[in-house]
Amino acid sequence: MNTTATTKIAIVGAGLGGLACARVLQLHGHAVTVFEQEASADARPQGGTLDMHGDTGQVALRTAGLHETWRALARPEGQQMRAVDPHTTDVLMDEVPAEDDESKPEIDRGQLRGLLLDSLSPGTVQWDRTTDDVTPLPDGTARLRFTDGTTENFDLVVGADGAWSRVRRALTGVRPEYSGVAFVEFGLDDADRRHAALTGQGTMVAKIDGNAIFAQRNSNGHIRGYAVFHAPEDWHAGLDFADTGAVREALLERYVGWHPELLGFLRDNDGAFTHRPLYVLPVPHAWTSIPGVTLLGDAAHLMPPLGVGANLAMLDGTDLATALATAPTVGEAVRIYEARMLPRSIETAAACQQGLIDLLSDDPWEQAA
Ligand SMILES: Cc1cc2nc3c(=O)[nH]c(=O)nc-3n(C[C@H](O)[C@H](O)[C@H](O)COP(=O)(O)OP(=O)(O)OC[C@H]3O[C@@H](n4cnc5c(N)ncnc54)[C@H](O)[C@@H]3O)c2cc1C
Repeated sequence: MNTTATTKIAIVGAGLGGLACARVLQLHGHAVTVFEQEASADARPQGGTLDMHGDTGQVALRTAGLHETWRALARPEGQQMRAVDPHTTDVLMDEVPAEDDESKPEIDRGQLRGLLLDSLSPGTVQWDRTTDDVTPLPDGTARLRFTDGTTENFDLVVGADGAWSRVRRALTGVRPEYSGVAFVEFGLDDADRRHAALTGQGTMVAKIDGNAIFAQRNSNGHIRGYAVFHAPEDWHAGLDFADTGAVREALLERYVGWHPELLGFLRDNDGAFTHRPLYVLPVPHAWTSIPGVTLLGDAAHLMPPLGVGANLAMLDGTDLATALATAPTVGEAVRIYEARMLPRSIETAAACQQGLIDLLSDDPWEQAA
C-alpha cells in the first residue's frame, strides 16, 4: 500500500511518543487519529520533570518544529546533579551546569505534553477511547477493536500505549516483568528551605545499602522525589497506599538511621505517596515486522526510568512519522523505522539494566540520574 495523505493511521495512546508521532505526521499533511483511554487531557497529574537530551528528545522536538517552544519553558539550571551522604548530608558531588549547557534541560512532563497537544489540529485526539485489541488483516491493514465493542480498520495501527500495551499483543506475547525495584513517589508543594537547599536546582540523590532517596526540582518551586529500594513485588502486602500515615511509617522504618533532613522528604510530603513498582521488558525485545502494526516508546522497550524513556519515545514517534512521510509504502516505512529503532532501544535498555544495578550500589556518584 502506498503512503499518501489519505493513508489511514491510528495511534493508540496520547503519551509523549504518540503525540510526537501525530505532530510530525500532520506537519507532512498526513491524516492521523490518536485514541486515548483517559477522559481528557487533564484527567490525571502528569508526573515529574523530564530532561530532554540533545541527541534524542531535542532531535525529536526539532523535527516536530517545537524546539523553540520547548526551550522557552525549559529549565537549563535543572541539570544540576548532586549526591549527598545519607547519614550526614555532606555534599559528595555537585555538578552545576555551565551557563551555556544545553545538553539536557528539564521541563515538567505536563508542560511538555501540553505543548505537543496544542500543536495538533483540533479533534486529533479522541479521548475516552480505550483500545481492547488489534488484529492484523491479510491485506496488510489492521483492525482496531475498542472496549465498547466497536471496530475500525486502519492502514497502520501504532501502539504508543505504554508499559501495558494492548497493541503489543498483535506482535509479541512478551509481557513486562518486575525488576525487583520499587519507587515510591512523594511531592512537596511549599518545600521549606531545608528541602529546597538540599535539592538544589536539579536532582539530589542519597543512597546506601540498596535504598535511595531522589529529590527533583520541578517548576514553580515544587519538589518531587522518589524513595527507591530493592523489594519483592509484594513488599507492600497489607499496606494501604490510601493511608498516607501508614506508608510514611513503613518508609521511615526502611530508612532508619538516615539524616533527619533527608527523612524530612518522607515526613513532610503533601498528599498521598504513589507506588511505582518498576516493570521492564526483557532485553532484547524485538518482533517480526508486519505492515499494519508497529510499536513505539514504552510499548516497544519499557526500561528502567534512568532519564531516557520519554526521550526515546519521542524520537521513535518522529522517526516513524518521517519514515511514513518519505517511504513508498506503509510496510517499507515500518521496516525502515523498526530497523532504526530496535537496535538503539536494545542497546539503551541493556545500559539501563546495568544502570539500575548501579543506581542502588553504594557508589554515590554512579548513575545517579
Ligand atoms: C518515576 C519515573 C520517572 C521517569 N523519569 C524519566 C525521565 O526523567 N526522563 C525520561 O526520558 N523518561 C523518564 N521516565 C520514563 C518515561 O516516563 C516513559 O518512558 C515515557 O512516558 C514513555 O512514553 P510513551 O509515550 O511510550 O508512553 P506513556 O507516556 O506511558 O503513554 C501511553 C499512553 O497510552 C494510553 N493508553 C494505555 N493503554 C491504552 C489503551 N488500551 N487504549 C488507549 N490508550 C491507552 C495511556 O493512558 C497513556 O496516555 C520515567 C518513568 C517513571 C516511571
